[in-house]
Amino acid sequence: HTADQGRRIKSWEFTSFFDPSQLRKETSLLSEVWWGSSSRLWRSCSQNSTHHVEQSFLDHFQAQRHLGPSTTCTITWFLSWSPCWECARAIRTFLDKYPTVKLTIYVARLYWHMDPQNRQGLRNLVKGGVDVRIMGPSEHYYCWRNFVDYSRGEEEEWPRYHRVPIHLFDLELHCICLDLPACLTISPVKHQQLLSFSLTLHTCHYQKLPPALLLLLGLVRPPPPQTSLSVAHRGRGPGTVNGGEWDPNNWGWFWVLR
Ligand SMILES: [Zn+2]
Repeated sequence: HTADQGRRIKSWEFTSFFDPSQLRKETSLLSEVWWGSSSRLWRSCSQNSTHHVEQSFLDHFQAQRHLGPSTTCTITWFLSWSPCWECARAIRTFLDKYPTVKLTIYVARLYWHMDPQNRQGLRNLVKGGVDVRIMGPSEHYYCWRNFVDYSRGEEEEWPRYHRVPIHLFDLELHCICLDLPACLTISPVKHQQLLSFSLTLHTCHYQKLPPALLLLLGLVRPPPPQTSLSVAHRGRGPGTVNGGEWDPNNWGWFWVLR
């Protein structure tokens, strides 16, 4: 396959904008568009301007392309923040207008996920057939190779982000899709561009969230109801981690039983 590509994102931009444990102001969108009958795909990188980046993409797409009723089109987005409720609504309107478009959205972080409107917005997207997922290592690697302007010899230098925040966002996205109360609380770390996460699980979470995901986070053994756990980022240094399963490898992530 051949790809038509605009500018690539700088390697430091990708590494920091898509870090699930960093609090970033920017919203970055890496997109791929495939046309049904063509072997070409179009890639582009954009960021929030005066409008949210999702809105700008949809406006640009509609201004540039004429989509016939039978032309299929596959769009994949890699977004550093999940769409807000207004963008979710714009996406739904767009997809209603172009029913042959298939959209998949990978997100690095959930944007203001405690806001009921944002939660409903994401649920509406999923109900409308949009595949919404949290970016994992394979997406980080894919984006690095296809969207990042890395230097020669840096092909394999893609960012290996810590897995815990990725799993935590995945857990919360499941809560949103299953219409469960939020289990994840996110707060900024003072004077740092970092996020700290705390997790509160209730019986409904243990009953409905995928056991494999709970197991990954070390949450299902033992699974008493009303357990409150928090994971904290305390800078570098050794940490004790639940059951020793999480090697903090100088990140200092650890679980605290409340
Ligand atoms: Zn938005």
